[in-house]
Amino acid sequence: MIFRLPEEFEKALVPGKPALVVYAMGTTFKGGIDDQEKLNAVLAKYPQMEVYRHIDAALFGGYLPHTKYKDVLNRNIQPYDSIAISGHKFFGMDEPSGLFITTRTVRDNQNPYSVSYLNATMPMINCSRSATSPIKLWWIINHTTKEDFAAQATQILDRAEWLKSEFDKIGWPAWLEPMSNTVYFKRPSEEIAKMYNLAPDYDERLGGDLSHIVVMQHVTENRLREFLDLLK
Ligand SMILES: *Cc1c(COP(=O)(O)O)cnc(C)c1O
Repeated sequence: MIFRLPEEFEKALVPGKPALVVYAMGTTFKGGIDDQEKLNAVLAKYPQMEVYRHIDAALFGGYLPHTKYKDVLNRNIQPYDSIAISGHKFFGMDEPSGLFITTRTVRDNQNPYSVSYLNATMPMINCSRSATSPIKLWWIINHTTKEDFAAQATQILDRAEWLKSEFDKIGWPAWLEPMSNTVYFKRPSEEIAKMYNLAPDYDERLGGDLSHIVVMQHVTENRLREFLDLLK
């Protein structure tokens, strides 16, 4: 179930039953971030309830640690049990891969998936058997300095803000959430949408059809200017 408001979230909780909660750290289309503090305050009203908190930080988890927003991922401030971060987004892996980071307690208390012919249990994620992708992701993370990651993070966030301000200048409805590198906006003509292969979404509250631009490291200001000029 997906909730827009903490009150809706609270209504869905069933006292006496455990809650599995996934916090979004950057939704795919709009780059929205769940307010952990507010949602944790709701959960705190039910001290008997068993709660597992997972964070979906597929894209944002790559860059947020290198920004002034890093505290939103600090477990000492808002505790969570696990987090998933894609390798093929911010880190630029050339094949699907990801990081799943969890507490030792969770790791040691998995539901054992026993494989009879191995006479063992398998502490791994299904379909994650590539021998090379973990090494490649490890290589990227270890051969990029903190300063380089920080520079990339600053670049994409600054450029997203610049893009949003350019939309504002030409009076084209556009939005940018806090901590986000994803600018979403009123969907342009089919011709332009097709040319840039823009992903579609729909939100009645914002006037209907939408598109977005995820400002990744390779999205240059020149490229964005060309797009804005076409829109104009
Ligand atoms: C991309 C994305 C996913 C999917 O992650 P994959 O690692 O590509 O499977 C999940 N959640 C969010 C918020 C995403 O942006």
